[in-house]
Amino acid sequence: MLEPNTQSGRTYTRRRWATVKPAAFEYHRPDSVTEATELLADLGHDAELLAGNQSLGIIMANRLATPDHLVDLGQVEALSGVTVREDAVEIGSMTTHRDLEFADDLRDALEMVPEAAEQIAGPAVRNQGTVGGSVAEADPAGNYPAAFVALDADFHLTSAEDERTVSARDFFVAYMFTDLGPDELVTGVTIDRAPFPVDRTGMAFEELKRGAQTFPTVSAATSLRVDDPDADDPVIEDARVTLANVADVPLHVPDAEATLEGGTLDDGIDAAADAAIEAADPSPEMHADEEWKVELAGEYTRRSLRTAHERATTR
Ligand SMILES: Cc1cc2nc3c(=O)[nH]c(=O)nc-3n(C[C@H](O)[C@H](O)[C@H](O)COP(=O)(O)OP(=O)(O)OC[C@H]3O[C@@H](n4cnc5c(N)ncnc54)[C@H](O)[C@@H]3O)c2cc1C
Repeated sequence: MLEPNTQSGRTYTRRRWATVKPAAFEYHRPDSVTEATELLADLGHDAELLAGNQSLGIIMANRLATPDHLVDLGQVEALSGVTVREDAVEIGSMTTHRDLEFADDLRDALEMVPEAAEQIAGPAVRNQGTVGGSVAEADPAGNYPAAFVALDADFHLTSAEDERTVSARDFFVAYMFTDLGPDELVTGVTIDRAPFPVDRTGMAFEELKRGAQTFPTVSAATSLRVDDPDADDPVIEDARVTLANVADVPLHVPDAEATLEGGTLDDGIDAAADAAIEAADPSPEMHADEEWKVELAGEYTRRSLRTAHERATTR
């Protein structure tokens, strides 16, 4: 609220902030996944998981969510960490954006993931925000959802009763809505490395955003595996193209991938950008109308593919 202040003899305005606080809730801090899932089973729809609190805190402060119980995963050490094996990468759901950003072995194996992490907000958000919170939130502009769909990752979900694995491509169902049940939590992510041999693969996560603290207007997660990185015009064996924030869910574009596979980058890049434009179905935002976002879908597909190709051919 703005109000005049004339104490000093000068007239200016003083800002008095309205206090916004969450509704009362009961706080739980389990030490293990078992304890956390048992709490979820007991508390059902009245409970919300708490991870890095970079999204939930804002939502609760504005009373857009008023859970009676918060189940804080911060003490569940088993959920944090990155393991880079020869055949696969495992990422625990409580691994922070910062942990991924600085995981050198992960950057060597699957460059797209740390590149997606390092472009999220500023250091304060990256220090706290987690992989599990990001995929569970399922913001269509989110970085990991697009990267994990491009890489065809698997998400591991656990409840007190059951454990199951869901492909990232099936997990994001509708706008900020996932396949996750109310009694389930995301324990981690697995990415099969077989399609991405490091000596013949390049990846890129390229995005347009208005400022460090904003979600991107559009981003493109791409990967290209070539037959011979030393050839003048290597043939693309495997292509991945997924866009963020141009549809209600991460937008996987198989038509773009099909135009690239079996030819050179120059053969397929224009058709791939056209396929991205054709597939895009964005919602307008205050700073970006639909038409511009569709155009950006094509442009960022092109940019990301060029970077991925350069990386695949200059190892
Ligand atoms: C200023 C700002 C800018 C941002 N910019 C970007 C950006 O550019 N790109 C981007 O991708 N993100 C961005 N974010 C979001 C950020 O990545 C958040 O960290 C993330 O979306 C939520 O993760 P969290 O760990 O903070 O989750 P929380 O806020 O703690 O939780 C979010 C939701 O996920 C649920 N949840 C958390 N963990 C689990 C789990 N293991 N299993 C099941 N459900 C779970 C919670 O119950 C809650 O509903 C931004 C955030 C801010 C504040």
